Amino acid sequence: MAKTKQFKAESKKLLDMMINSIYTHKEIFLRELISNASDAMDKLYFMSLTDDNIKLNRDDFRIKIELDKAQRAITIADNGIGMSESELETNLGTIAKSGSFNFKQENEKQDDIDIIGQFGVGFYSAFMVSKKVIVESLKYGESTAHCWESEGADGYRMADCGKTDVGTKITLYIKDNTDEENFDEYLEQYTIQRIIKKYSDFIRYPIVMDWQSSRKVEGEENKWEDYVEEKTVNSMIPLWKKDKKDISKEDYENFYSDNFHDYNKPIKEIHYKVEGNATYNALLYIPENAPRDYYGRDFEKGLQLYSSGVLIMDKCADLLPDYFGFVKGLVDSEDLSLNISRELLQHDRQLKIIAANIEKKIKNELTKLLKENREDYEKFFKSFGLGLKFGLYNAFGTNRDVLEDLLMFVSSNEKKLVTLAEYVDRCSEMQENIYYACGETVDKIDMLPQTELAKEKGFEILYMTEPVDEFVAQILSEYKGKKFVNISGEDFDISTEDEKAQLNTLNEENKEMFDAMKEALGEKTADVRFTHKLRKHPVCLVSEGDISIEMQKVLNSLPNSQGVKAQLALEINKDHPIAEKLKDLYANDKETLAKYAEILYAQARLIEGLPIENPTELTDLICEVMVK
Ligand code: ADP
Repeated sequence: MAKTKQFKAESKKLLDMMINSIYTHKEIFLRELISNASDAMDKLYFMSLTDDNIKLNRDDFRIKIELDKAQRAITIADNGIGMSESELETNLGTIAKSGSFNFKQENEKQDDIDIIGQFGVGFYSAFMVSKKVIVESLKYGESTAHCWESEGADGYRMADCGKTDVGTKITLYIKDNTDEENFDEYLEQYTIQRIIKKYSDFIRYPIVMDWQSSRKVEGEENKWEDYVEEKTVNSMIPLWKKDKKDISKEDYENFYSDNFHDYNKPIKEIHYKVEGNATYNALLYIPENAPRDYYGRDFEKGLQLYSSGVLIMDKCADLLPDYFGFVKGLVDSEDLSLNISRELLQHDRQLKIIAANIEKKIKNELTKLLKENREDYEKFFKSFGLGLKFGLYNAFGTNRDVLEDLLMFVSSNEKKLVTLAEYVDRCSEMQENIYYACGETVDKIDMLPQTELAKEKGFEILYMTEPVDEFVAQILSEYKGKKFVNISGEDFDISTEDEKAQLNTLNEENKEMFDAMKEALGEKTADVRFTHKLRKHPVCLVSEGDISIEMQKVLNSLPNSQGVKAQLALEINKDHPIAEKLKDLYANDKETLAKYAEILYAQARLIEGLPIENPTELTDLICEVMVK
């Protein structure tokens, strides 16, 4: 055989961990190898639907497991798609790219369990029970088979081999027993049968073994003979077709981690059956964590689609609206034809009915979760809430019926997540509006001058910290008859009519002073005026018109932004000592008043988290005023 090659560093670490594993569920190696075999057969089967050269029928696919006690060997053979030489090398010489995970605390034994439990350890788990592994494979369409061989961390060797049938055969040479551990058991047919039943019973392809039994010899008394017959070990009944009462929580969870590549437990499974307009079984899961690419452009949503138990599409996107794209699972319907193409499927009436049905079901289940298990719902919302908001925004609110009751925002009461219904239910009837404030973080919003007043008046405020939040508020516009009002907007005025009238008079009286300040500020502000909305703070900025300060930030951060500008008014606390000072300057020193206007405006921008256009100019100006 060719010379030994080294594993990539990451792979070697994982391999070391497998070899020295103290993991108690070593038996999962078989599940991993069987599920790889099943995936490989799925791939060839899919190809056969469009490639007439593949003569295999669905029933021809099978996994064969053989035991050889004398050699201490188990072989697992499949007639799936096989691996080419380079695939053998990249797939088995490098740790599964899919998982690229970090070894956080290397070399700590207790971490074994965590990593193995969380991550589909895949092929390398074979090394938990084997001292040597040989993989022989012939890829569909190729004429030469290749062999990969390894005794563990020292590396692997590759060579051509004589395998003539398409597929992969893996031979495991089982470790010798140690004082603590009995590896012999993996060479027992009953053990292997038990493991297959436990983890791989629902695999769609038959898993067959040469089963050894003995029977009475006919016609002869007390004479027994040994014989071997091929036996299919798995029931092949898919989990979703079993009766719910025969399925344990663990079954659901195992099925989830085996099929959907998420090694965290799902928050909830939804298993149901519909008969009528459309007839189908569905097994859906709500994951706890968003996959890393969930909010990326390349994320592919979709459910597995089966037609009477046969997988016809791995990710059918049309079954899920984008905002429920986090749902994993499958749908199995008798109403769909086996050979339906993707294009036709999109227009399939049956599929549309099923999709509409599924959307309703997911919404109902989420509503139920919100009612019955708040903690889990909040976990869910932290992972996927943003997607729900984008869903509303992208469809201009046409789907508000589905989504508005599922939304949550952090509220000023206890800084906890609340739904809009909860907000409205507990605010007084007198309160006409839903008040919200926008900012990067809850703390920053808390420091906004306007927040002070709203809280002082006893209003609950929703903190909108995601850029999309404010767009959602604008699109919804109202909820249960209460209008959304941004406390940094000009509409936010919770004073009495008397107070308003007084303020108007005050602003009229000082009109000329404000004109002078406005002139000093030029295009920067639409208005300068006194306000009674502030308590401690001297100034704030208020947006006039449709574009708020936060929206301006978001819009300008987008590629191709056109430099959108919110119309800003500078408001000055009428009760702050600075008010008197300004009046004094207007009477005696108009030049300094102009400088004060600049400085106050800059302060207000800082409070809002807006950039200062010319910081050096500003600091010079401040110093000038300071030394005066
Ligand atoms: P994972 O299955 O999570 O990707 P594995 O380490 O189990 O990780 O397998 C790595 C890759 O090797 C698989 O993704 C697949 O492409 C390939 N592979 C493994 N076993 C087989 C097999 N029996 N037939 C064909 N390809 C296989």
